[in-house]
Amino acid sequence: MTRLLYQGVPGIADLSASLSAPSLFTDHCSLSTVVADDTLHEECGVVAIHGHPDAARQTYLGLYALQHRGQESAGIASAEGNHLANIKGMGLVSEIFTDDVLQKLPGHMAIGHTRYSTTGDSALLNAQPIRVESTKGLIAIAHNGNLVNLGNVRAKLERAGAYFQTTSDSEIIVQLIAHSRAGSLVDAIADSLSQVEGAFSIVMMTRDRIFAARDPRGFRPLSMGRIRNADGPDTIVFASETCAFDLLRADYERDVLPGELVMVTEDGVTSRQYATGVPQTSCIFEHVYFARPDSKIYGRWVQESRDQMGRQLARESHVPADVVVPVPDSGVTAALGYAEQSGVPFRLGLIRNHYVGRTFIEPEQRIRDFGVKLKLNPVRNLLEGKRVILIDDSIIRGTTSRKIVRMVRGAGAKEVHLRISCPPTVSPCFYGVDTPSKRDLIAANKTIDEIREFIEADSLAYLSLDGLQKSCDGGEKNGFCVACYTGNYPTQWVDVEDILPAAAGV
Ligand code: SF4
Repeated sequence: MTRLLYQGVPGIADLSASLSAPSLFTDHCSLSTVVADDTLHEECGVVAIHGHPDAARQTYLGLYALQHRGQESAGIASAEGNHLANIKGMGLVSEIFTDDVLQKLPGHMAIGHTRYSTTGDSALLNAQPIRVESTKGLIAIAHNGNLVNLGNVRAKLERAGAYFQTTSDSEIIVQLIAHSRAGSLVDAIADSLSQVEGAFSIVMMTRDRIFAARDPRGFRPLSMGRIRNADGPDTIVFASETCAFDLLRADYERDVLPGELVMVTEDGVTSRQYATGVPQTSCIFEHVYFARPDSKIYGRWVQESRDQMGRQLARESHVPADVVVPVPDSGVTAALGYAEQSGVPFRLGLIRNHYVGRTFIEPEQRIRDFGVKLKLNPVRNLLEGKRVILIDDSIIRGTTSRKIVRMVRGAGAKEVHLRISCPPTVSPCFYGVDTPSKRDLIAANKTIDEIREFIEADSLAYLSLDGLQKSCDGGEKNGFCVACYTGNYPTQWVDVEDILPAAAGV
């Protein structure tokens, strides 16, 4: 059963309802969560559509392309002059939004969200979009990122009489809008955005307008596109990543700028800078891991950045070897760059099972490293007797890397050399990436040689920070956040204990 939360849907009470969905498991199965996932998780992906007769369905397609940015919950809100309906549920976009559900979301405007939670618990109520009735009218909001001064602002708002419906930090922005003394809605939004600190790429919707904004430092990506309509006004599209535009057949137009607030109405697109003079610190880890290689973020193709990371890694730390093998999927592009630069052949020596869900039926006999074996399998004939350079995008706790090194060696590799396409991760993220506490980050507690010993590799090398920045810049002169590699955070983070459990270990 997929539980859905309906708000403002004609003919359905504003309560959670249940919808039958095919069960993946029979009753007698004992289910286990896939063992502690040693990868980092992005918080969210957002989409907005203005000026399309079936905006909710377009939003669904956009969210489908952004599913990699969050798999816990998803939601779509649509509007058409008089009404603003919202439906959200737990699970994947395709599980929640069946044809029947999408039909309940009419309108020419819609916003959508897919979520992996880092603040607030991950209950249905905290799924987004959040729809709030305010003094400025009905507002729906979908947010990617993390606010870092939420304790202060929330307490102030509560003293001023704000009643919060959720524990999500995104609602703070809506409450600030509702409590703003600014005369117009657009002034109230600009006013509220300038009061919050941290990472936010947001899309918002009222009954007749769409807004899109990025925080002044531009932590998270947000792009604007256009679907050209021969017999009417163009459809305007916003998405966390441009890969969503391809499915919608939208042309990429530009990025929403750091500190910019864009408004789309029937009269067209207008924009204002609500914040200026703040140095840009876009998340460099989007280029390393989160964003899809077929997306262009901060003005640069992710594929190009990853290719350069691989090439630079080969220039910095090559060793004689027979094959270059990526840890799929995120290590593939960097491994291609590494192989081309080094002249060592690229081989898909590890195969990922793409159909592994979040739960599995545990075998009766315990199998060593079962979780990793479920996801990855070695191609024995490509690895046997070979000196292998293994390319991955990060080492977090080190436990998964050790299992993969063991797997490659177990398949007959003579030597296993691990190369990582970014510097050691030494500090947690407070800007929307779910990172373990410092005590669980292996690079914060061990030297590189100690890590090599722990993961049982013959050699280990990371890409230098300088090499990473050059690989991702591409002459765009972007400023990047690199705090998880340096511990130097670009914002004041006064309410750390409110942001992530991870913060307790800092
Ligand atoms: S700390 Fe790391 S993951 Fe977080 S925003 Fe900065 S670069 Fe990105």
